Amino acid sequence: MNIILFGAPGAGKGTQANFLINEFGLIQISTGDMLRDSVKRKTKLGKQVENIMANGELVPDDIIFLLINERLKNKDIKNGFIFDGFPRNLKQAQKLDEIMNDMSMHLDFVFHIDVDEKILTSRIENRAKQEKVIRKDDTSAVLIERLKVYNRDTKPVLDHYFNQNILNVIDGMGTIDEVSSNISRLINKDLKVD
Ligand code: AMP
Repeated sequence: MNIILFGAPGAGKGTQANFLINEFGLIQISTGDMLRDSVKRKTKLGKQVENIMANGELVPDDIIFLLINERLKNKDIKNGFIFDGFPRNLKQAQKLDEIMNDMSMHLDFVFHIDVDEKILTSRIENRAKQEKVIRKDDTSAVLIERLKVYNRDTKPVLDHYFNQNILNVIDGMGTIDEVSSNISRLINKDLKVD
Protein backbone atom coordinates (compact mmCIF):
# COMPACT_ATOMS: atom_id res chain seq x y z
CA MET A 1 0.00 0.00 0.00
CA ASN A 2 1.43 3.34 -1.07
CA ILE A 3 0.16 6.57 0.44
CA ILE A 4 0.67 10.30 0.12
CA LEU A 5 0.12 12.39 3.24
CA PHE A 6 -0.84 15.82 2.07
CA GLY A 7 -1.33 18.98 4.09
CA ALA A 8 -0.10 22.44 4.95
CA PRO A 9 2.92 22.90 7.23
CA GLY A 10 1.83 22.02 10.77
CA ALA A 11 -1.17 19.92 9.66
CA GLY A 12 0.25 16.83 11.39
CA LYS A 13 1.66 14.84 8.46
CA GLY A 14 4.68 13.62 10.42
CA THR A 15 2.54 12.53 13.38
CA GLN A 16 0.15 10.59 11.16
CA ALA A 17 3.08 9.09 9.24
CA ASN A 18 4.33 7.63 12.54
CA PHE A 19 0.89 6.18 13.19
CA LEU A 20 0.80 4.54 9.74
CA ILE A 21 4.32 3.14 10.21
CA ASN A 22 3.23 1.40 13.43
CA GLU A 23 -0.24 0.38 12.33
CA PHE A 24 0.44 -0.86 8.80
CA GLY A 25 4.20 -1.49 8.73
CA LEU A 26 4.80 1.14 6.06
CA ILE A 27 7.97 3.16 5.70
CA GLN A 28 8.09 6.95 5.54
CA ILE A 29 9.72 8.90 2.75
CA SER A 30 10.02 12.49 3.88
CA THR A 31 11.84 14.78 1.44
CA GLY A 32 12.05 17.39 4.22
CA ASP A 33 13.88 14.92 6.51
CA MET A 34 16.21 13.90 3.68
CA LEU A 35 17.04 17.53 2.91
CA ARG A 36 17.56 18.41 6.60
CA ASP A 37 19.92 15.46 6.88
CA SER A 38 21.98 16.77 3.95
CA VAL A 39 22.10 20.23 5.53
CA LYS A 40 23.22 18.72 8.85
CA ARG A 41 25.95 16.68 7.16
CA LYS A 42 27.01 19.78 5.22
CA THR A 43 27.05 17.93 1.91
CA LYS A 44 27.23 19.79 -1.40
CA LEU A 45 23.49 19.32 -1.81
CA GLY A 46 22.93 20.45 1.78
CA LYS A 47 24.78 23.70 1.12
CA GLN A 48 22.73 24.26 -2.04
CA VAL A 49 19.40 23.96 -0.24
CA GLU A 50 20.11 25.42 3.20
CA ASN A 51 19.06 29.00 2.49
CA ILE A 52 16.12 28.01 0.33
CA MET A 53 14.73 25.90 3.18
CA ALA A 54 15.43 28.53 5.82
CA ASN A 55 13.39 31.00 3.74
CA GLY A 56 10.46 28.61 3.39
CA GLU A 57 10.78 28.32 -0.41
CA LEU A 58 10.62 25.11 -2.41
CA VAL A 59 13.87 23.37 -3.31
CA PRO A 60 14.31 22.98 -7.13
CA ASP A 61 12.44 20.00 -8.58
CA ASP A 62 15.61 18.43 -10.06
CA ILE A 63 17.12 18.05 -6.59
CA ILE A 64 13.91 16.47 -5.28
CA PHE A 65 13.73 14.03 -8.24
CA LEU A 66 17.33 12.99 -7.58
CA LEU A 67 16.53 12.24 -3.93
CA ILE A 68 13.30 10.40 -4.74
CA ASN A 69 14.83 8.29 -7.51
CA GLU A 70 17.70 7.30 -5.22
CA ARG A 71 15.34 6.50 -2.33
CA LEU A 72 13.02 4.34 -4.42
CA LYS A 73 15.94 2.12 -5.45
CA ASN A 74 16.00 0.75 -1.90
CA LYS A 75 14.15 -2.57 -1.64
CA ASP A 76 12.59 -1.59 1.71
CA ILE A 77 9.84 0.26 -0.19
CA LYS A 78 8.37 -2.98 -1.52
CA ASN A 79 5.97 -3.44 1.40
CA GLY A 80 4.53 0.01 0.97
CA PHE A 81 5.47 3.58 1.75
CA ILE A 82 4.17 6.95 2.80
CA PHE A 83 5.25 10.10 1.02
CA ASP A 84 5.36 12.94 3.50
CA GLY A 85 5.99 16.38 1.98
CA PHE A 86 6.18 15.13 -1.61
CA PRO A 87 4.87 15.98 -4.18
CA ARG A 88 4.86 19.72 -3.49
CA ASN A 89 3.78 21.04 -6.90
CA LEU A 90 2.11 19.83 -10.08
CA LYS A 91 5.37 19.08 -11.87
CA GLN A 92 6.44 16.81 -9.00
CA ALA A 93 3.05 15.06 -9.06
CA GLN A 94 3.33 14.42 -12.80
CA LYS A 95 6.89 13.15 -12.39
CA LEU A 96 5.74 10.84 -9.60
CA ASP A 97 3.08 9.37 -11.91
CA GLU A 98 5.85 8.59 -14.43
CA ILE A 99 8.15 7.07 -11.81
CA MET A 100 5.38 4.89 -10.37
CA ASN A 101 4.37 3.79 -13.84
CA ASP A 102 7.96 2.91 -14.77
CA MET A 103 8.31 0.88 -11.57
CA SER A 104 4.91 -0.83 -12.11
CA MET A 105 3.65 0.57 -8.83
CA HIS A 106 0.63 2.67 -7.98
CA LEU A 107 -0.66 5.05 -5.33
CA ASP A 108 -3.51 3.72 -3.20
CA PHE A 109 -4.47 6.76 -1.16
CA VAL A 110 -3.85 10.46 -0.92
CA PHE A 111 -4.95 11.77 2.48
CA HIS A 112 -5.37 15.51 2.68
CA ILE A 113 -5.17 16.45 6.36
CA ASP A 114 -7.28 19.58 6.24
CA VAL A 115 -6.62 22.17 8.96
CA ASP A 116 -7.77 25.78 9.27
CA GLU A 117 -4.92 28.23 8.59
CA LYS A 118 -5.37 30.11 11.90
CA ILE A 119 -4.97 26.84 13.82
CA LEU A 120 -1.88 26.00 11.78
CA THR A 121 -0.19 29.25 12.71
CA SER A 122 -0.74 28.72 16.43
CA ARG A 123 0.37 25.07 16.21
CA ILE A 124 3.63 25.99 14.53
CA GLU A 125 4.29 28.82 16.97
CA ASN A 126 3.81 26.38 19.87
CA ARG A 127 6.08 23.82 18.21
CA ALA A 128 8.77 26.48 17.82
CA LYS A 129 8.49 27.35 21.54
CA GLN A 130 8.66 23.73 22.72
CA GLU A 131 11.54 22.46 20.61
CA LYS A 132 15.00 22.73 22.07
CA VAL A 133 16.53 22.91 18.62
CA ILE A 134 14.18 25.17 16.74
CA ARG A 135 13.75 24.40 13.06
CA LYS A 136 14.99 27.47 11.25
CA ASP A 137 11.83 27.40 9.14
CA ASP A 138 9.44 27.27 12.12
CA THR A 139 9.42 30.98 12.94
CA SER A 140 6.27 33.01 12.29
CA ALA A 141 7.75 35.05 9.44
CA VAL A 142 8.91 31.98 7.56
CA LEU A 143 5.67 30.18 8.36
CA ILE A 144 3.72 32.90 6.54
CA GLU A 145 5.96 32.32 3.51
CA ARG A 146 5.56 28.53 3.76
CA LEU A 147 1.77 28.87 3.88
CA LYS A 148 1.91 31.19 0.86
CA VAL A 149 4.00 28.65 -1.04
CA TYR A 150 1.63 25.87 0.05
CA ASN A 151 -1.44 27.76 -1.20
CA ARG A 152 0.24 28.81 -4.45
CA ASP A 153 2.19 25.70 -5.50
CA THR A 154 1.10 22.72 -3.43
CA LYS A 155 -2.68 23.05 -3.04
CA PRO A 156 -3.33 22.77 -6.81
CA VAL A 157 -1.91 19.22 -6.62
CA LEU A 158 -5.13 18.20 -4.83
CA ASP A 159 -7.08 18.49 -8.11
CA HIS A 160 -4.61 16.16 -9.77
CA TYR A 161 -5.42 13.40 -7.27
CA PHE A 162 -9.13 14.25 -7.13
CA ASN A 163 -9.20 13.55 -10.87
CA GLN A 164 -7.43 10.22 -10.27
CA ASN A 165 -10.11 9.35 -7.71
CA ILE A 166 -7.65 8.64 -4.90
CA LEU A 167 -8.09 11.84 -2.87
CA ASN A 168 -9.52 11.54 0.65
CA VAL A 169 -10.08 14.69 2.69
CA ILE A 170 -9.54 14.12 6.40
CA ASP A 171 -10.75 16.62 8.99
CA GLY A 172 -7.47 17.58 10.64
CA MET A 173 -9.06 19.70 13.37
CA GLY A 174 -9.79 16.77 15.71
CA THR A 175 -7.41 15.14 18.16
CA ILE A 176 -4.42 13.17 16.87
CA ASP A 177 -6.28 9.91 17.67
CA GLU A 178 -9.41 11.04 15.86
CA VAL A 179 -7.43 11.91 12.74
CA SER A 180 -5.58 8.56 12.92
CA SER A 181 -8.77 6.56 13.27
CA ASN A 182 -10.41 8.40 10.36
CA ILE A 183 -7.44 7.50 8.19
CA SER A 184 -7.33 3.87 9.28
CA ARG A 185 -11.10 3.48 8.84
CA LEU A 186 -10.77 4.48 5.19
CA ILE A 187 -7.82 2.14 4.65
CA ASN A 188 -9.53 -0.81 6.35
CA LYS A 189 -12.76 -0.25 4.43
CA ASP A 190 -10.81 -0.48 1.19
CA LEU A 191 -8.77 -3.51 2.29
CA LYS A 192 -11.97 -5.43 3.07
CA VAL A 193 -13.40 -4.79 -0.40
CA ASP A 194 -10.28 -6.15 -2.15
P1 AMP B 1 8.93 19.69 5.32
O1 AMP B 1 9.69 19.05 6.42
O2 AMP B 1 8.23 18.69 4.44
O3 AMP B 1 7.98 20.77 5.80
O4 AMP B 1 9.97 20.42 4.36
C1 AMP B 1 10.84 21.44 4.85
C2 AMP B 1 11.37 22.25 3.68
O5 AMP B 1 12.12 21.39 2.80
C3 AMP B 1 10.32 22.89 2.78
O6 AMP B 1 9.87 24.13 3.28
C4 AMP B 1 11.08 23.04 1.47
O7 AMP B 1 12.00 24.10 1.53
C5 AMP B 1 11.89 21.74 1.44
N1 AMP B 1 11.15 20.64 0.79
C6 AMP B 1 10.73 19.48 1.38
N2 AMP B 1 10.12 18.68 0.49
C7 AMP B 1 10.14 19.35 -0.69
C8 AMP B 1 9.65 19.06 -1.98
N3 AMP B 1 9.00 17.91 -2.25
N4 AMP B 1 9.86 19.99 -2.96
C9 AMP B 1 10.52 21.13 -2.72
N5 AMP B 1 10.99 21.48 -1.52
C10 AMP B 1 10.81 20.59 -0.49
